[in-house]
Amino acid sequence: MNQTRVRFAPSPTGAPHVGNIRTALFDYLWARHTGPSGKFILRIEDTDQAREVENGLELILDSLRYLGLQWDEGPDVGGAFGPYRQSERLHIYKEHAERLIAQGNAYYCYCTAERLDQMRKDQQARGLPTRYDYHCRDLSAADRAAHERAGDPRVVRLAVPREGKTTLPDFIHGDLTIDNSQVDDQVLLKSDGFPTYHLAVVVDDHLMQISHVIRGDDWIPSFPKHVLLYQAFGWEIPPHGHVPNVLGNDKKKLSKRHGSTSVTQFRDDGYLPEAMLNFLALMGWAYDDKTELFTRDQLIANFTLDKIGHAPAVFDPAKLEWMNGVYIRELADDDLATRLQPYIPQADPATLRALAPFVKTRIKKLSEIVAIADFLFEEDLEYDPQLLIGKGMDAASTSAALRAASATLEKYPEGAFDDEEKIEAELRADAEKLGQKNAQFFGALRVAVTGKMVTPPLMGVMRIMGREKTLRRIARALQLVQ
Ligand code: GLU
Repeated sequence: MNQTRVRFAPSPTGAPHVGNIRTALFDYLWARHTGPSGKFILRIEDTDQAREVENGLELILDSLRYLGLQWDEGPDVGGAFGPYRQSERLHIYKEHAERLIAQGNAYYCYCTAERLDQMRKDQQARGLPTRYDYHCRDLSAADRAAHERAGDPRVVRLAVPREGKTTLPDFIHGDLTIDNSQVDDQVLLKSDGFPTYHLAVVVDDHLMQISHVIRGDDWIPSFPKHVLLYQAFGWEIPPHGHVPNVLGNDKKKLSKRHGSTSVTQFRDDGYLPEAMLNFLALMGWAYDDKTELFTRDQLIANFTLDKIGHAPAVFDPAKLEWMNGVYIRELADDDLATRLQPYIPQADPATLRALAPFVKTRIKKLSEIVAIADFLFEEDLEYDPQLLIGKGMDAASTSAALRAASATLEKYPEGAFDDEEKIEAELRADAEKLGQKNAQFFGALRVAVTGKMVTPPLMGVMRIMGREKTLRRIARALQLVQ
């Protein structure tokens, strides 16, 4: 099997966690690294219906689309190995479970929930690990027939060899050998006909000809069962790599306590897909010990499995923000304006375009456009009039500054605000005439025009805002300050 076929196999249980999407990214990069024959497959593992959420599939697709992780096969696009939703493959799991039973590698278990509960309690009381006690594995043919006649509900369990050792091949953590006697007789098929994850994942990875299984390291404890299942079926085990979890700065699994955990939340906060992609690629993978900025193409060219590390990756929000700033600064003005639009829907596109060069160096997230520039798009500003009166100023000197500024600006016809340098020189001269510092004079003017003390460069703001609105706002500030 030379073709690279890797899969992302999420369960539709909510907005995907950044750690899961990071794993999907590794799959994607590995598929693309191997060229046009490499396939990135999306398989929806929806066999645990109790945990499913209604729009679960959409949330997954949305997250992958945000980062441009386009899948080659999947529930919506199809492919030669479908269906790609496990709930549509129940007959396949049943058939495979029956095959294991026929071979003697699995058996029907009729134990009731009460019996299993009592069994676990007894084991706990005796300080033993809780695991299935082989009760139905050792049933006589007559007892088995009696259960069948009575129509008792049954599950299928894997008959794990009671002796011997099994080697677990993992290209990230290295091979590990375990005693088979430690492995539980795992349920493979539940009484409602649904498979457990363990049966479904092995059957599907085999039938879909997955060449490399790349998944989160929380699956390491289940790995022995999977290897034993491959052996029971007589199938070759594709190389497995368990990717380290994404942790918060306190070294615990990244959770809501640490802030955002779903990638779409980062999108909504204004992180560019380019930045998020770059940042997530470094959560467990490194090209060398210094390079941090990678375009998608560079990631694809450089991504190899041997560079995935086994140490847990720590999610550093400050680094993500820095990286996002870097990518924002690299955007062309038109592109930035288009991307800002959804964050400030009331803005007209021409104004946003004019604003782009100013905000580029001032925001680290697209959503910050609101705090920085919403004043441009409002009719009337709401602000505390006290803000108009700067350090060492009073109502009289502030009024004088605003009146002088207004008189100067009035001389320029609509459109002539383009001459920023000339206007600024005149306004500076006004400040000097009044004996005011530039910070005092322009501070008052800035608050009058924007309602804020920190904004993009004032001359540019007034140019974008235009003569009429600028003068109207100064006039209103003059009323407020008296
Ligand atoms: N459905 C599992 C999950 O969402 C998939 C794990 C795997 O990739 O095998 O975690």
